Amino acid sequence: TRNLVLVLGDQLSDRLQTFAEFDRKQDKVFMAEVTGESRYVWSSKMRTTLFLVAMRRFAENLRGKGIDVLYRKLDDSKRFDSIGSALVTELEEGNWQKVLVTQPGEYRLIAEIESACEEAGVELVILEDDSFYCNASRFDEYAKGKKQLRMEYFYREMRREHSILMEDGEPAGGKWNFDSSNRKSFGKGGPEALFPRKRFKPGKVLEDVTRSMDTVFADHPGFSEDFDWPTTREEALEALSDFIDNNLAQFGAHQDAMWNGEPFLNHSLISSSLNLKLIDAREAVDAALEAYEKGRAPIESVEGFVRQILGWREYVRGIYWRYMPDYLDRNELGATNTLPKFYWDGSTDMSCMRDVITQTIKHGYAHHIQRLMVTGLYALLRGVDPKEVHGWYLAVYIDAVEWVELPNTLGMSQYADGGVMASKPYVASGKYIDKMSNYCSSCRYDPSLRSGKDACPFTVLYWDFLDRHKKILQSNSRMTMQLRNLDRLDAKELEKVRSQARELKSTK
Ligand code: FAD
Ligand code: SF4
Repeated sequence: TRNLVLVLGDQLSDRLQTFAEFDRKQDKVFMAEVTGESRYVWSSKMRTTLFLVAMRRFAENLRGKGIDVLYRKLDDSKRFDSIGSALVTELEEGNWQKVLVTQPGEYRLIAEIESACEEAGVELVILEDDSFYCNASRFDEYAKGKKQLRMEYFYREMRREHSILMEDGEPAGGKWNFDSSNRKSFGKGGPEALFPRKRFKPGKVLEDVTRSMDTVFADHPGFSEDFDWPTTREEALEALSDFIDNNLAQFGAHQDAMWNGEPFLNHSLISSSLNLKLIDAREAVDAALEAYEKGRAPIESVEGFVRQILGWREYVRGIYWRYMPDYLDRNELGATNTLPKFYWDGSTDMSCMRDVITQTIKHGYAHHIQRLMVTGLYALLRGVDPKEVHGWYLAVYIDAVEWVELPNTLGMSQYADGGVMASKPYVASGKYIDKMSNYCSSCRYDPSLRSGKDACPFTVLYWDFLDRHKKILQSNSRMTMQLRNLDRLDAKELEKVRSQARELKSTK
């Protein structure tokens, strides 16, 4: 035997370089379900189910193509707690020349795989993950010599470099960015009729995985019975074309809007398929461009969608590899508080938090603004330790893989990196949530009140946050307006805010 191709749970693609010279006669694929990957954060059943179902179906698919797959199941008689230990055992049992692996999506795993190969005395080859537009060295070239990195400029370079939405050297539609057309709320009437999203039922394999989960992860949050996400390449392609046909045109205007009881709205729901590599970023971008060329979706929708994938998704990956491993320990605002218990079950009378957390536990999904400006904002205002917030986001979302989750959580949402990801903390009072949703109309709190028994917890904590971090924030010119408003509060009112905030911050 020759090469062992290690396939991790978020590398479910035979279009990766590791398969380029695969020799069916001599090479084998190795995949392992290990308990540690679901335990190092308290991974929800929905998320773990996605990985296990997709891994098992990918292995079946490879076998159907005549590829020999060595597969360790979670409930095999010998259970492994880490990729490293599963790999060492496999290597010691066989006679391998080399291990090939695509660059993992998590820093920690590189070290683990390296030391497993070293222990077993087998050469390791880590290959570039070419499912992205931009690799680490291209990102470093972009970042070199810049005092401050900004997604917008990186995105423009990517647009030019890959000739995406460019017309005669100029951005299509006359401007680079239609962000200002992407922030409409739904108004009182709510969203227009929504197409029901496509649901995918994996059948027997889901039953098997649910059984394994019930044995090994019984105490983990959430459920797996209602699981309905795409888990094969065919299903992911179907989900993508469903989005392009039915939702892309409406996606643009209301990207940031929220509506009680409507978790999916016009979002694409493809992040887990992209992150597991069932489909590639290029396929998603190309499908949107085709819809634009055929006049089936307006520029603000298509540019908005392309910006998320070619811009944000590639940018956060660049940040992750450039700043890890130190990035994980950043805590610019010195936050040490803990997450309240209701993050795990939604039992709170804040209507916005209840809705977002309940849908998160039920579906493993919330859209960007729900993550950033509801659950993320509350944790930031409460002063929760960014590492704990990171643990929550990595555990509960089906699309959570560290390279994309960490910069979004620790950087964009918690400002713990001191401005690498975002030029200022994303802080707002309950009034922002009121503007972008209908949550407040069914809430017992009032978003415009900052003190008293009906005061919105977001609003109380917002003023307290500005007050608490005034010193750090003063050096940021983008915070001037907000701080000026703080200065207008009279001393008595500020005292009331502080004392109410103290109470809110100490609830368990
Ligand atoms: P759409 O709204 O339809 O957007 C299209 C695609 O663009 C997404 O599928 C995604 O691949 C990409 N995208 C959009 N925004 C971002 C972004 N900020 N960063 C990277 N890619 C983006 N995304 C993840 O894939 N995994 C995570 O673990 C994750 N954690 C997050 C944590 C926080 C605190 C925040 C604020 C955002 C996080 N995001 C994460 C980004 C974003 O919220 C999700 O990608 C998006 O909600 C997925 O839903 P969708 O596929 O319907 O996306
Ligand atoms: Fe959320 Fe405050 Fe609005 Fe209630 S009043 S839904 S807590 S923003």
